[in-house]
Amino acid sequence: MKLGRFSSNERVFYGRLEGDTVFELADIFNPEIQTEKRHALNSLTILSPCQPGKAVCVGLNYMDHIKEFGHDIPSSPVLFIKPSGTVIGCGDFIEYPRSSRRVDYEAELAVVIKKECRGVSASTAADYIFGYTCANDVTARDLQQKDGQWTRGKSFDTFLPLGPYIVTDIDPGKLDIKLYLNGVIKQNSSTSNLIFKVPELVAFISEIMTLFPGDVILTGTPSGVGPMCSGDLVEVEIQGLGRLSNRVRGATEIGA
Ligand code: MG
Repeated sequence: MKLGRFSSNERVFYGRLEGDTVFELADIFNPEIQTEKRHALNSLTILSPCQPGKAVCVGLNYMDHIKEFGHDIPSSPVLFIKPSGTVIGCGDFIEYPRSSRRVDYEAELAVVIKKECRGVSASTAADYIFGYTCANDVTARDLQQKDGQWTRGKSFDTFLPLGPYIVTDIDPGKLDIKLYLNGVIKQNSSTSNLIFKVPELVAFISEIMTLFPGDVILTGTPSGVGPMCSGDLVEVEIQGLGRLSNRVRGATEIGA
């Protein structure tokens, strides 16, 4: 199933997408319960498909990206959190902060949590996963490197495009993942190259903190990360999940 969050005339609702028709839902986590309302997709604004209370992100989880930055292979997942205010949907603008001189894209597979999840094992993790979507872990690389830890560089408002939809019933183990900058391919890998796989990540994270419905896990980015400028169109495409498109705007005179 392909599920999303939409708005029309300032009214916000969830829906199940079938072709170009959106069947309105009362609750995205119970998509089998449908309302009688339906909409043409092109009459709607697409919003982020969920509103996570937190996005738990994994750094350094593709071998090629680790080599790119000269890091050692981590013995356990390296985690950080992006706050809820970073989340935007497909078509929204990524705002370039005035305090950064280098803002990078990072294409990532995002896992959406279905139900409260605490201390689960990798073998039961699938029961807690609602579906998958595309994410862009936008990063102020200069601030990340300057600070020595990642909070500021990862947490600017608009730094987490998510979407366009949540796809359930898809195996995340071997999906092509690509990033296009102004139509030119910059990242091109497969989720089969993840060092720590999705079930392991759910188990590892849920041992530390409770995950709630709608929370997301960003699984890391492959090699090829690079900078964006104001006006750029950045698109994350994952096999079976669609294409997440966002444009960058703001701060062309950095530090002004
Ligand atoms: Mg990342």
